[in-house]
Amino acid sequence: MKGGAEEARYRSCGSKRRYRSQGDALDAALLAGVERERAAYRCRYCGQWHLTTRERGDPPRGSR
Ligand SMILES: [Zn+2]
Repeated sequence: MKGGAEEARYRSCGSKRRYRSQGDALDAALLAGVERERAAYRCRYCGQWHLTTRERGDPPRGSR
């Protein structure tokens, strides 16, 4: 069965809202009041940023 990659791309990119920067993504989460439940990640498909649900409670690391 094909389409696995397409589906993964849709789920991690196509179905999501895009943000120009990590700051924009985090701002959107903040406005929605869900900043503790969301993490921003840079998309490998479109090169922009999306928000994902944080499940393990790991704090984001790295930038900032
Ligand atoms: Zn994307």
